[in-house]
Amino acid sequence: MEYDREEARRRAARRRAAEKRKRMRRRRLTVLGAAALILVLLIAGAVSLIVRAVRKGRQAAALEPTAQAAATVTATAAALPTALPTPAPTAVPATPAPAIDAPWYRERMAQLYHNLSSYGNYPDAAALYTALEEMQIDPNGKMLAITFDDGPYPPITGDLLDVLEANHARATFFVKGAYIDANKDLIRRELGLGCEIGNHTTNHEDLEKLSPSERRATVGGLNDKMQALFGYRVHLLRPPYISYGKKGDANREDIVAMAREYELAIVNHTRSSHDSHEDYTAQMMIDRILAEKDELGRGLDGSILLFHDKYNKTVEAMKVILPALKQQGYQLVTVSELLSCSQEGLNWGWIYSKAD
Ligand SMILES: [Zn+2]
Repeated sequence: MEYDREEARRRAARRRAAEKRKRMRRRRLTVLGAAALILVLLIAGAVSLIVRAVRKGRQAAALEPTAQAAATVTATAAALPTALPTPAPTAVPATPAPAIDAPWYRERMAQLYHNLSSYGNYPDAAALYTALEEMQIDPNGKMLAITFDDGPYPPITGDLLDVLEANHARATFFVKGAYIDANKDLIRRELGLGCEIGNHTTNHEDLEKLSPSERRATVGGLNDKMQALFGYRVHLLRPPYISYGKKGDANREDIVAMAREYELAIVNHTRSSHDSHEDYTAQMMIDRILAEKDELGRGLDGSILLFHDKYNKTVEAMKVILPALKQQGYQLVTVSELLSCSQEGLNWGWIYSKAD
């Protein structure tokens, strides 16, 4: 009897313990279930946010050119869409409406937008928009292209960019490939200010004295570097010493063929500043550039002006020349823009010293 009661108590205790364990298990399952439900809800929320962000990103990507899209522009004018998609209404549109209704100009606006937004120093979208609007071109107005050879060459190139920026002016820089790696910040600044980069060979070689394969190495090497570092397609070649063979000879034929292969226009100049002449002062440069006609009787409209971004006197002269040209109503455009606005247009392998 004594024994049975003890046994019954133990059994009851075991039963109570088992029930307690069951209750605990049920409670644990309920808590786990609730946690799982909360987790599922959180994941669902996050997924819907991500889907919405991706959709928005896709819409933005459809409106704005990517680096690659912008880089592959000029070559395939015919393949490009005739109209960009209409941007969704926002406080500040990404780019102003193009002032010229032509494929090259729409590509140019896309390229400028990419360069200014990637490398420029604009505090907000409104400032970027204002800068792009200022860079619009009136095809019926007077225009000319200022060019600088042999850079980037610190500190002169930076000083020149200060003067260009202060005057809201743009130029074309024919750079040396060997100087790019050490001066990426200057190239970025040139692109961010809406300037154009042209090819002046890797080491300032005389193209006429090179073999066909050496020519392709020095010119193609620079183009590849600009593409790899900045997603930028170079479309202008200024041969050092303006040396590209004589009309009808084999060197000229090969240099022109190479320019076609690399989709480059060959750029001479209309008027030289003579800044590379040791005895030429800043004032003499100013007088020469601002003269109404050059020695061949050519005026400034449509001209390509030659300078070098490696002399202090060039910076000093530019402080006078830029505001004077703007005062006279010239639009200071890049070489590609100047040639694209001309009757002949911009053509690979053609040699230009002026826009007609
Ligand atoms: Zn040079």
